[in-house]
Amino acid sequence: MGPRTAQRRNTHGPVRWVPLPRVLHGLCQGDALPAGRVAGHKLRRVLSRLVPEGDFVRRVVKRLDQVLTGAPLTYTLLRWPTLGGVDLTGLTVTAIDAFGKHILMHLSDARTLRTHLRMDGTYYIEHADAGRPARDSRAQRWTSRAVLVTNEWTVIGHRLGMADLVRTRDVRRLIGHLGPDIMADGFDPISTGEAIAAQGERAIGATLLDQTVVAGIGTIYLAEGLFEWGVRPDRASDAVPDPAGLLQYIRELLWRSVRARTGTATGDTRRGFTTLAHGREHQPCRRCRTPITVCRVGTPPLDRPAFYCPQCQPD
Ligand SMILES: [Zn+2]
Repeated sequence: MGPRTAQRRNTHGPVRWVPLPRVLHGLCQGDALPAGRVAGHKLRRVLSRLVPEGDFVRRVVKRLDQVLTGAPLTYTLLRWPTLGGVDLTGLTVTAIDAFGKHILMHLSDARTLRTHLRMDGTYYIEHADAGRPARDSRAQRWTSRAVLVTNEWTVIGHRLGMADLVRTRDVRRLIGHLGPDIMADGFDPISTGEAIAAQGERAIGATLLDQTVVAGIGTIYLAEGLFEWGVRPDRASDAVPDPAGLLQYIRELLWRSVRARTGTATGDTRRGFTTLAHGREHQPCRRCRTPITVCRVGTPPLDRPAFYCPQCQPD
C-alpha cells in the first residue's frame, strides 16, 4: 500500500495530490480517500478506529443530522445495484436516526434511505464551496456508495455495507428482524435479558452479537460488559447472572461513549486506555495483571473475537 494521499479539488485546473496529514494516516480505512484541506476547507470525517457499534453509529448520526437535516439536496448519486438512476435532488432530509447499527435518513417525499456501515463503512463530510458544490472525485468512485450534497456540505458514504430506499412506513420491513435497540429510549433490559437467557447453552458472546436478540452491541462492548460481569464469553447464555443488569451496564457504557469527546468504553479517551479487555491480547489485565486472552464466538465464517481475562472471568 503506497503513501496515502488526499486529492485537492480544483475545478479550474488539473487535479493535484497532496500528502495526508500524518495524524490521519492510521485513521483512514482506504487509499486515496480525501482528507486534509480540500478547496480551502478542512475535510471533516467522523473518525473511529473501532468497528462500528451502537455508540459509533449514534455519533455518525449526530454529525450527519447536523449537516444534512433541513437543507435541500442539490446533488445526489447512489452507487448501489438496486438504486441505479435514483436521484434525490430537490428533496430534503427531514430527520436522521439509528436503529442498532442501521442509519435511517428520512426524506421529504416519505421515503427513507437506510444504510449500514458493516465492518468498513465510513461517512465523510466535506464543506462545499458556496455556489460550487463539490462532487466526488474519480479516485473516490471506487468505494463511494452514496453522495449527498447540499449548498453547504458534501456527504460521501464509503464502503457502505447496505443501502436501500423504501417508503418510510415500510422501514420496519428492513429492520423488523432485529431485536430491541439497546440504545433506544424505552429499551427494556428485563424482557431482553429474558430473551438472552432463552438462548440456552449458546455462548453468551455469540448471543450478545446476535442483532436479532439485541441490536447495537459489537465485539468491543461484548468484551467490556462480560469483563465487568466476570463471565467468560463462551459461558452458556442461560448461566449468566443478572442478564438484565449486564444489558443495562452495556447500555450505559455505550451512551457514555457517545457523550465523550471520542469513542471510549472506559470513559478514558487516551489512546490505549479506551478498553479494559477488548483488543488487549497478551497485555496485562488492568485489575489482576494476568495476560488478556481471546477466543472466538459464533459460527465460522461469521465468528468473531471475544477478549477476556482468564483470572477475572473464570467461568
Ligand atoms: Zn484480570
